[in-house]
Amino acid sequence: MNDWLDLEKQCAECKRCALWENRKNAVIGRGNKSADFMLIGEAPGEEEDRQGRAFVGKAGQLLSMALSAMGIEDDKYYICNVIKCRPQNNRTPYEEEIESCMPYLDKQIDMVKPKVIVLLGNTAAVSLIKKNIRITQQRGTWDVYKGIPVMMTYHPAALLRDESKKIDMWRDLKNAWKKLQQMS
Ligand code: SF4
Repeated sequence: MNDWLDLEKQCAECKRCALWENRKNAVIGRGNKSADFMLIGEAPGEEEDRQGRAFVGKAGQLLSMALSAMGIEDDKYYICNVIKCRPQNNRTPYEEEIESCMPYLDKQIDMVKPKVIVLLGNTAAVSLIKKNIRITQQRGTWDVYKGIPVMMTYHPAALLRDESKKIDMWRDLKNAWKKLQQMS
């Protein structure tokens, strides 16, 4: 548990990139810190920055509802972002910001030790897989990070803009969960 407190303190005091200047809170993650199922998004939004909790805004609520409808309650997964401080106006994080923040995410993955990871959106997919990924083309496919199978899918914020993506995302989440059940 001390490792988690250390991580929270390090992020709260971090000035490795310029995003610290406008943060209200560094947002680490939420959920079960020993979960086999981990989801990783892009960066905190306004509500997350205000509350200091990951995925509590509209997009996060939509995702939680979808997971819950599949029987995946909050205590069955851990969810966080690549970037811990909110980029202003929710812009896409710059490459150097991702590079600066990745050690924190790597530490989280090492501590949670998930068996399956879901990457939510392009930034998460590109940051971990280091390939030229277009999520619209590669969602629903698998890759590997640190020896862990990773499924790529849409970020829930994309569903707020385009409801037609819901079916594909639900299918991807179900497939990722099914893979975990098959591994257990
Ligand atoms: S975004 Fe990450 S690297 Fe940048 S200041 Fe926040 S915690 Fe540090």
